Amino acid sequence: MSKTFRVFVTCDIGDSLNELRERGYEVEVYPKPEAPPKSLIIEKVKSGIDGMITTLRDQIDGEVFEAGKNTLKAVAQIAVGFDNINRADANRYKIPFTHTADVLTEATAEFAFFMTGMLARKMWPAEHLLRKNQWGYWHPYLPFLGDEVTSKTVAIIGTGRIGLAMIRKCSGFDMNMLCYDPAYENRDYIKAIQEIMDLRLARGITKEKNWIKYVPFEEALGEADFASVHVPLLRAGESATPTYHLFNEKTLRLMKPTAYLVNTSRGPVVDEAALARALRENWIAGAALDVYEKEPLPADSPLRDPAIEDRCRLMPHFASAARITRLSADPNKGMAGRCVQGLIDVLEGNYGGDVTKMPYVVNKEAFQK
Ligand code: NAD
Repeated sequence: MSKTFRVFVTCDIGDSLNELRERGYEVEVYPKPEAPPKSLIIEKVKSGIDGMITTLRDQIDGEVFEAGKNTLKAVAQIAVGFDNINRADANRYKIPFTHTADVLTEATAEFAFFMTGMLARKMWPAEHLLRKNQWGYWHPYLPFLGDEVTSKTVAIIGTGRIGLAMIRKCSGFDMNMLCYDPAYENRDYIKAIQEIMDLRLARGITKEKNWIKYVPFEEALGEADFASVHVPLLRAGESATPTYHLFNEKTLRLMKPTAYLVNTSRGPVVDEAALARALRENWIAGAALDVYEKEPLPADSPLRDPAIEDRCRLMPHFASAARITRLSADPNKGMAGRCVQGLIDVLEGNYGGDVTKMPYVVNKEAFQK
């Protein structure tokens, strides 16, 4: 390699960065655990760096791309979601950005499934009861009961990579599934899941018939015992079917009072004020959230209301936070490895320098001939 590339990394992503150092890159890592201020990002970009590794906490918009005009060649995001990167601005400046799709799919889907079970089986209030030394007796139904997930119906909202993985995990728990996706219906996949469920019944492995089908959004919400959300954050103007506040007062009221909402997608997909009210006034039975409209969750968030704490599970954007998923240097296993590989592909002109052929580049449309 003839040129030394300079890269600014907004947050340490571990040993994978050695791959860049071994290739002779100059790598500067922002040393604090918090996100760097935007002014520092602009300063670094203006200093002429070739590439930048970003997290979902960094606002990468026209101001950043303008600062890197003619010098910044690639932005590599360590996440599958990229709603913090202004795609139209990246395209205007013709700067490719990459993401880390697929390698976090299973970790995120299993976490969504675990949150579903934790919420419905009341594991958090049950453990608190014990820890507060209020476990006075075994009783058939006191002080409370939870709800099984087995044989229940789950609405899968968004059947992309993570939605399909969630379907596979739910099918293992003999759940029925109502799927909704306005842009991508993978009918072959759900047909195969139905065939597997039918075989399990035919061989006596399960006792009841389970089913899966695509339905309209309102039907999915109205009939499901659980709704699990797996959509990208798309604001008005970014999609014909935006997902911003997809769950709001109107749609939350469509759900059954016994139903639970699980959101591991992006916070602004759920109107938190409406959800807090839905939980306070028992329009729905509970919610488990991993993501929030503002992160970290503010101290005065209505979701922290002690009156709803028995039915509102709150996780710190943790769904992909598993050791191999986050840090493996193998691009086929870890977000860190895939992020580094995405950056190398662009900077070193892999795939004959054709950005449209690079697997981890998101905004390929800006480079179509
Ligand atoms: P994906 O692009 O493969 O799937 C998203 C699906 O949502 C697509 O099929 C799309 O057609 C569908 N969709 C778009 N608009 C919709 C709408 N209005 N209603 C229903 N469906 C709609 O993405 P993925 O890899 O499955 O990831 C999904 C999202 O999950 C990411 O964009 C990210 O924001 C989030 N995520 C969160 C975590 C976490 O740590 N909590 C981890 C990974 C991903």
